[in-house]
Amino acid sequence: MDLPFLQPPEQRWSCARCTVTAVTRGRPNRFHTCAGLGGISAPLVPEGSGGVVRAVLREDYVGGEHVTADDAGRPVAAVVTERPDGSYDTVVNAPVARGGGGAHGLDR
Ligand SMILES: [Zn+2]
Repeated sequence: MDLPFLQPPEQRWSCARCTVTAVTRGRPNRFHTCAGLGGISAPLVPEGSGGVVRAVLREDYVGGEHVTADDAGRPVAAVVTERPDGSYDTVVNAPVARGGGGAHGLDR
């Protein structure tokens, strides 16, 4: 007797901001470089779910921090996925500070 080979169900993904689609089995989410959001990394949403992904631009002074920027150079603070039921997910693009790399106090 052959046992059926159990596989996770197929999940189809799409993006409301560009034309990227994907099909996966057993993976919770897919990210892509979204042409509709200026080339930033954004999640796909389950196809037909009505979910929408949007970029949240950083509004405060960037200074010397390394930030995630879109193709136009605008700093993107977060990417938010909103669903029709009101739930949402947020991916925060935390800025990174730079250091000089010197050995403070060790060269005396
Ligand atoms: Zn996209």
